[in-house]
Amino acid sequence: MGKANVNMICDIAELSSLFEKSSSLDDFLQSAVSVVAWHMQAAVCSIYIYDDKDRMLTLRATQGLSPIAVGKVQLRLGQGLTGLALKEMRPIREGRGVQNPRFQPVRGINEERYEAFLAVPIRRGLTRVGVLVVQDTQPDYFDEKDEQALKAIAAQLATVIENANLLLTLHRQEEPVKTDTRAAPKMIKGRPASGGVAQGRTTVLISGHGGSFQLPDGLPKNLTVHDFDRALEQTEQQLKDLQRRADEELSDVAQLIFSAHLLILADEEFSGEIRRRIEAGAPAAEALVTLVNTFIEIFSSSPNQRLQEKVHDLKDLGHRLLENLAGGDRERGDYSGQIIVADMLLPSDILKLATENAEGFIVQGGVTSHNAIICRSLQKPMVMIDPQQLEILCNPCELLIDGDQGYIFIQPSEEVLKDYVELRRAAVELETAPPVKEETRTADGMRVQLFANINLLSDLKMALSFRAEGVGLYRSEFPFIIRNAFPSEEEQYQVYSRIVETMGGREVTFRTLDIGGDKVLSYQNEIEEANPFLGLRAIRFSLLHKDIFAEQLRAFLRAGVGGNTRIMFPLISSLDEFIEARDVARDCMKELEARGVPYNRDTKIGIMVELPSAVELIEDLAHEVDFMSIGTNDLIQYMLAVDRTNEMVSKLYLSHHPAILRAIERVASVANSHRKDVSICGDIAMDPKMIPFLLGAGITKLSLPPRRVYEIQQAIEKVSMEKAVYTTRRMLAASRISDVEQIISSYNFAP
Ligand code: PEP
Ligand code: MG
Repeated sequence: MGKANVNMICDIAELSSLFEKSSSLDDFLQSAVSVVAWHMQAAVCSIYIYDDKDRMLTLRATQGLSPIAVGKVQLRLGQGLTGLALKEMRPIREGRGVQNPRFQPVRGINEERYEAFLAVPIRRGLTRVGVLVVQDTQPDYFDEKDEQALKAIAAQLATVIENANLLLTLHRQEEPVKTDTRAAPKMIKGRPASGGVAQGRTTVLISGHGGSFQLPDGLPKNLTVHDFDRALEQTEQQLKDLQRRADEELSDVAQLIFSAHLLILADEEFSGEIRRRIEAGAPAAEALVTLVNTFIEIFSSSPNQRLQEKVHDLKDLGHRLLENLAGGDRERGDYSGQIIVADMLLPSDILKLATENAEGFIVQGGVTSHNAIICRSLQKPMVMIDPQQLEILCNPCELLIDGDQGYIFIQPSEEVLKDYVELRRAAVELETAPPVKEETRTADGMRVQLFANINLLSDLKMALSFRAEGVGLYRSEFPFIIRNAFPSEEEQYQVYSRIVETMGGREVTFRTLDIGGDKVLSYQNEIEEANPFLGLRAIRFSLLHKDIFAEQLRAFLRAGVGGNTRIMFPLISSLDEFIEARDVARDCMKELEARGVPYNRDTKIGIMVELPSAVELIEDLAHEVDFMSIGTNDLIQYMLAVDRTNEMVSKLYLSHHPAILRAIERVASVANSHRKDVSICGDIAMDPKMIPFLLGAGITKLSLPPRRVYEIQQAIEKVSMEKAVYTTRRMLAASRISDVEQIISSYNFAP
């Protein structure tokens, strides 16, 4: 049967009769989506209802998407194409909605499969009521007539929904419904920080005062001093094993990360005092919790920030001791099967908890790039949440978190679990044997190089298995951030040499220290800045502390022996700054030469282009540098004046903003005309939608997280250079963001 939208407008009476037959608003909406989907022969029809109080749209009925999403999927006004249709009060019709940068598929409800998209706002005058959406697998499925038909339906629906809502409000006033205000919602939408899926029960870690350590339910009551001593011994052994494993597997960042635990454990005032209290008759678990809380109080009221930071270590230790005390199947004492819910975590906390098998993380606050990056490297999902959401999650419960979309399912249903098991299986399959080709080429044979962004040494394995052609960006700050002091030149040399050795002759680009902004060194916290992103960050820090800078440069130069290595300076704002930094590198070479220490004499020296001032000076810089890499993460932040960690302005953080596109093209063409190597190492390099533009702008070298190499290789293979150049030209000519979005959504990847 063909589409019957014309008849449908005549058949609107059908909706009224549906309403009469329905027992509730939801019942009516569900019948309505079935009828509309049937008339339009659309695979999906959904209705979202808008709540003006929290400015959220909630999916209330669907035909075609997973029914588990009903009542759970929520969108902010303006979020995704659906939210946009309501915000701007206009229909949105996309032949290939999936390719529109504003499209945000909701994981777990199979939305990604549907190409054609049509959303029509449901409104009463100027009042926003909801959105009616149809989707289909066949691209360009909906036409102008469908749009008209859907608008007519939406107008009818508006009246019914509004009346039904009024009735409901009336009923509520007449007979107050006994609602449990403490009842947790079934799903929370947070902000995605690190992808993947994790499942487990909550373990809450709240820092500082008021975040006391709680006695969990269900512990045996009859534990003795003997049980405590056994738990103590077991804990010590586990910590030593963990420390050994961390030293081996995460040697760049994790040396001695459990030393504080071991020291506290050996402290007579701690374990000795617990034993004494048990001997004096206190129940073992209670004695332990009381003493952990006494220590938490002492640590968190200390003026010494380093001691304050140990509060998590204490709780972690308490948790392990309790688990061991309880024995049974919890005897591993770690966080297997547990999701950490916390108000604040340091990168080192994440590393410790991940080493102890925490399944995933839910943390209050904005997405600080380093915590997110560490979680991604450790393959642990992470979602950021607001303080009110943290309160809900503080009650013990089973959770499933989706780090790609930011969803947290509380007491997930069988259906949700089943959907996600499937997703997880597909991801694991891809990672164990990624079918990446050795060389990446466009549809018409142009060679493109795909390099890896490396944060921790443990990422190198993934870089090799995804056949990255080298390291395009080594973020060297992690050993500095996670340890509690600057690593020595020798320690750095060991780490950097491992990278060069592992990459066996492939090109490796080391970036000098990029701290400041949201990448904070805990042992440098005497520096309080009002605007850290505009402050002592990256190369500015290095140039102020030339001794630390020189140590790092010497370590890079020495590690480069026998390799193909390059050194790159972050956040360069002027030619003067580059020359000053390069002079330090040249002095280091002279010094090593004079001391007869071997180093890589062919080390190339380049810059990251991530500031508008560098774009303006790009001709002048191109004369001096050996190479340049565009850091779009920061370039977007600084060009558009949008804090990359501030959720409130995240909608303005647009990689396809016309100014960003023109800046990228300008840098690429200047570099290419000076025959200087140019690449992109910001997140734009892993966005398939932006690939045609980048290729057309003259970028043929990309550096991205190794796990994304396969996906990007596939995106590149679908594009011909002819089409890429044509598309890029159109995008560069566009003045408005919406014009660029239009062009992106009309991409046709077929060669
Ligand atoms: C960038 O700014 O694009 C970049 C790659 O650097 P980072 O994300 O580490 O600031
Ligand atoms: Mg940057």
